[in-house]
Amino acid sequence: MAPTIEPVHTSAPLPATTSVVIIGGGIIGLTAALTLAERNIPVVVLEKGRIAGEQSSRNLGWVRKTSRHAEDIPLALAADRLWARMPERVGSDVGYRQAGIMFVARTEAQMAMHAGWLQSVAHLSLDSRLLGKRAIDALVPGGRGKWAGGIYTASDARAEPTLASSAIARAAMAKGVVIVEQCAVRTLQLAAGNVCGVVTEHGEIRCEQVVLAGGLWSRRFLGNHGVSLPTLPLTCSVLRTQPMEGPTDIAVGAPDFSFRKHKDGGFIITQRGKLDAFLTLDHLLLGTQYLPQLRAQRDFLNISLGRHFLKDLGLARRWKADRVSPFERVRVQDPCANERLNNDALNNLKAAWPAFAQARVAQSWAGTIDVTPDSNPVIGPVAQIPGLTLATGFSGHGFGTSPAAGHLAADLVSGHAPIIDPTPYRFERFAL
Ligand SMILES: Cc1cc2nc3c(=O)[nH]c(=O)nc-3n(C[C@H](O)[C@H](O)[C@H](O)COP(=O)(O)OP(=O)(O)OC[C@H]3O[C@@H](n4cnc5c(N)ncnc54)[C@H](O)[C@@H]3O)c2cc1C
Repeated sequence: MAPTIEPVHTSAPLPATTSVVIIGGGIIGLTAALTLAERNIPVVVLEKGRIAGEQSSRNLGWVRKTSRHAEDIPLALAADRLWARMPERVGSDVGYRQAGIMFVARTEAQMAMHAGWLQSVAHLSLDSRLLGKRAIDALVPGGRGKWAGGIYTASDARAEPTLASSAIARAAMAKGVVIVEQCAVRTLQLAAGNVCGVVTEHGEIRCEQVVLAGGLWSRRFLGNHGVSLPTLPLTCSVLRTQPMEGPTDIAVGAPDFSFRKHKDGGFIITQRGKLDAFLTLDHLLLGTQYLPQLRAQRDFLNISLGRHFLKDLGLARRWKADRVSPFERVRVQDPCANERLNNDALNNLKAAWPAFAQARVAQSWAGTIDVTPDSNPVIGPVAQIPGLTLATGFSGHGFGTSPAAGHLAADLVSGHAPIIDPTPYRFERFAL
């Protein structure tokens, strides 16, 4: 069960026409919609379940530059600027706090990875710095961990997933965006190969352009149009504690746990060292494209073959516009939390910072991430289908960059100068 987001009343009748249809009411679709509305461009957001019901409400809320690929950092820096003025832009708190992020390393090899990353981004003049044991103790007191060192970025931040999407949705609607929940888009409508509308479960909308911000589902949607977007699902489990006295306001990531302060005074905790990889047909179809990632991260994955494989096989890969689509069959992807991983994370954290011995679990949940072969998203047009722009495949770190990612998608759709160079995100890179 996902955390409950701030309620938003979205229901609206389906308009017959608009300029831009956005498929997906996650934080990416919503920030793109807000940016377009601020440019007076008519927008309709269609969401098969409820806004932010999937990844965008389930994530940890980290807003970081640390450990991102160097080519992804301009997007993160642009997002920092947009997060800082988001409360003013949307007229309410989104939980954005620039409280810093620290990663700690147990081994010299892990420390060498942090040092290597810092070197790879030296030209970007970030405020990240390597830490010794004493500096770690000074920043986050009361620890018992035997750390080889760490890395700290004071300008990294957090925001609240349960506040941000709702606030952005409300602001977008106030500027004229129409958001329709419980409305799956089945297919694109094409005229001479160009986008001219969408077919939804409740009827058609004519439009000039479509942004596909469908998260985990974008691959299946595109597959039905003969376009292959390589993404694979990974499941991450999370817990939230009841309000408690913690050692710090800084978000901390260790090899086998992470924690960050929640707005209610508790902490959001996960097992950083493990993700569940429930095998599906796509893992078999795309697996070879992920071999370098698999080699580097084999120990991070709990790979299992079970009922998920059959459940996934039961969902259509090809369908017609007049048939019920997979998006109506799964309104909200709501995987069960892996309580074993959550317990491991909490126990590892208690051993490292005994202040967490008093932690009481208030809630746990899981979410499914859409991972691309290079862990960067796709933000850009699809050459085969003029009028279609992708903003998807955020690979487990799209909440932090969402204000800039949605902005970039809106720039590309509306012909504005892009907020950052979009080259690293182009779809064609997977065809090379
Ligand atoms: C457990 C977890 C922890 C994470 N932690 C972090 C973090 O700390 N920091 C960070 O930056 N990122 C984090 N992420 C990743 C981040 O949450 C995502 O990258 C981001 O939310 C992606 O947003 P999105 O809008 O692309 O996708 P989603 O939020 O998944 O939204 C896509 C929406 O599209 C809808 N949809 C799909 N197809 C259709 C269709 N055909 N018709 C209508 N609607 C459709 C879906 O129902 C869904 O609501 C985490 C993710 C998870 C799961």
